[in-house]
Amino acid sequence: MTITETKTLVGHWVDGAPVPVVTQRTAPVHNPATGAEIARVALATGEEVDRAVASAVAAQRSWGALSLGKRAAVLFRFRELLASHADELAVIISREHGKVLSDARGEVARGLEVVEHACGLPQLMKGEVSDEAATGIDVYSVREPIGVVAGITPFNFPVMVPLWMSPVAIATGNAFVLKPSERDPSTANVLAELWQQAGLPDGVFTVLHGDRNAVTALLEHPDVDAVSFVGSTPIAKYVHATGSAAGKRVQALGGAKNHGVVLADADLEDAADHLTAAAFGSAGERCMALSVAVVAEEVADELVALLAERARAVKVAPGDVPDADMGPVITAASKERIESLIGSAEREGADLVVDGRGHVVPGHEEGFFVGPTLIDRVETGYEVYREEVFGPVLDIVRVADLEEALAVVNANPYGNGTAIFTSSGAAAREFRRRVQVGMVGVNVPIPVPVAWHSFGGWKDSLFGDSPIYGPEGIRFCTRAKVTTERWPSKRVQASFHFSGDGQ
Ligand code: NAD
Repeated sequence: MTITETKTLVGHWVDGAPVPVVTQRTAPVHNPATGAEIARVALATGEEVDRAVASAVAAQRSWGALSLGKRAAVLFRFRELLASHADELAVIISREHGKVLSDARGEVARGLEVVEHACGLPQLMKGEVSDEAATGIDVYSVREPIGVVAGITPFNFPVMVPLWMSPVAIATGNAFVLKPSERDPSTANVLAELWQQAGLPDGVFTVLHGDRNAVTALLEHPDVDAVSFVGSTPIAKYVHATGSAAGKRVQALGGAKNHGVVLADADLEDAADHLTAAAFGSAGERCMALSVAVVAEEVADELVALLAERARAVKVAPGDVPDADMGPVITAASKERIESLIGSAEREGADLVVDGRGHVVPGHEEGFFVGPTLIDRVETGYEVYREEVFGPVLDIVRVADLEEALAVVNANPYGNGTAIFTSSGAAAREFRRRVQVGMVGVNVPIPVPVAWHSFGGWKDSLFGDSPIYGPEGIRFCTRAKVTTERWPSKRVQASFHFSGDGQ
């Protein structure tokens, strides 16, 4: 199969086929490296949402009843198709998102991992049995699909985040309705084509493009049973509150402010390399980007010098330039917002060591580029620290020691990821045990858990307390049914009261 090229008009995918675009409402899709509008995406109406959900409900009935082996066979075929189309997907990601091709390929690879985990669904769906739980009574629990799962995803990982959700929801017997980001929507339709090629019945995977109207319609739709959301914190809060009020199961992963703690005993060259990549990779548009380095005062001058050298050496270029380290940010508005936050830090008294404002890539003057930015002596009250910048900006907060570093990290309202750079096992252990963050790296800058663990932050980085993919993802997409069973060979005396003696 050849992947359909990005169309000028990106439409929905319902019931196993592209839907002719009839809506008057569309949004622009840009190539962030050139600033040019390259497509428009349809924004679903309420009726389109109704039609898509109705198709998902109908398809789920037979898909959820299919044997585990038959469902696994589809997952295995999807895995092969995804792997063989990884490069083509990466090209589309890079064109619409702006990230460099190698990073886009990495994104597909991390999504592929989740598919591979979901291929083990017969094992993952195994229930539990208590033989002879009471005299002559056996108790067993199984997990059943929940029904229709809607997934609402952000722009920054247009393939990986849909793959955090859909393979797990589909493997466990649900239908999945994807509402991708309207800023880089095209890969969602490619995923739909690949699912179809893999033999997934029509209607089990749906793509509904749209904005807040489509999201609200899904949140309020009586036939949507669960909502998986990944995006910014204000919208995550809204999705969690609205979906929960409508009686749905909701997991809503929000924004982040991730701290990389550098202790005085760290290998500073190594820490500088990793902080540079983790702060500026993908132009800082990662929910696990390290956007704050919390540095022991004793080594801060030395580390800042190493970071400045590296920040200046980052090659900023369009994502398809072979040796580019970092591409543009997603929109002109995002560039403006990031540059304004950099300006606020300067005004509030921080030391702007490397200033990425006004960065121009020759031949791409209209592109949304922001250069790597390093800001020293940032106070936690500054706007650049309080806000999630979501751009190539690294703040340095200087602290006396581990104790003060922990106080800074734990006082932050977000709790997605963090990392510590140290050569002391004892200090790393102390940090790991006391830090109020869901995902911790020890000398590992971006500790995104592998697919057979689960991904999720704490505090304002996750609403609804269920992390995504891995064992938690399986639980989120299923509900338990517990059967208590007796096959008596003689009559059992009925009782008017509970018997708690286990007899
Ligand atoms: P966003 O919150 O603007 O959009 C996410 C989704 O919500 C999109 O599909 C969008 O169409 C929809 N949406 C936007 N505004 C809405 C509204 N008012 N009502 C209903 N729906 C709305 O996020 P984004 O800018 O696309 O992505 C970046 C954000 O996502 C960052 O904050 C980043 O930290 C976060 N993120 C978090 C994780 C995580 O795992 N915690 C992973 C990736 C990205």
